Amino acid sequence: MREQTLICCHDDVGHMDAKKTLHNLKLRYWWPNMRKDCKAYVRSCHKCQIVNRRTANAYGLLQQLPIPSTPWEIVSADHIVCLPQTRNGNTNMLVQIDHATHYVIATPSASLAAHTVTDALYHNIILRYGPPSMYLSDRGTAFTARHT
Ligand SMILES: [Zn+2]
Repeated sequence: MREQTLICCHDDVGHMDAKKTLHNLKLRYWWPNMRKDCKAYVRSCHKCQIVNRRTANAYGLLQQLPIPSTPWEIVSADHIVCLPQTRNGNTNMLVQIDHATHYVIATPSASLAAHTVTDALYHNIILRYGPPSMYLSDRGTAFTARHT
C-alpha cells in the first residue's frame, strides 16, 4: 500500500525530488516515518538515478571583461595539449595572452602541473611587466591546484 502511494506521488507525477514528493504525500496521507520512506524511495528510484540531475548551484551570468588600461593588466592563459613531442620532451604549450595588445607568450612544457603555470607566470610576465591585476583561465587543474 505504501509503495503504491509512493509510486502515485513520485513516479506518476514526473519523478519530483524527495521534498516535492513528500509534499504531495502529505496532502493526502500520513504514516509513521513517512519522510524517511519517501527519501529512501526517491533515492532508490532507478529512473531518477539514470537521469543526470543537476544538484549544484545554477550557473552565473556571463559578464563582459573590463577593458584594460595598460598592457599586461589582464592576461588570459590556457594549455594546448597533445602536440608533437619536441627534442626536450615537451608535448604541451602554455599560452598567455595580454588583453591590451594581444601579445602572446607561448611556453612549452612536458607536464600540465601547477608549477609550469606559476613558473611561466612569474618568469614571463611578473618579472618582465609586473603582476597582472587579472589572470583568466578555464579553471583547469593546472590553474586551480595548490603549488607547493
Ligand atoms: Zn524517480
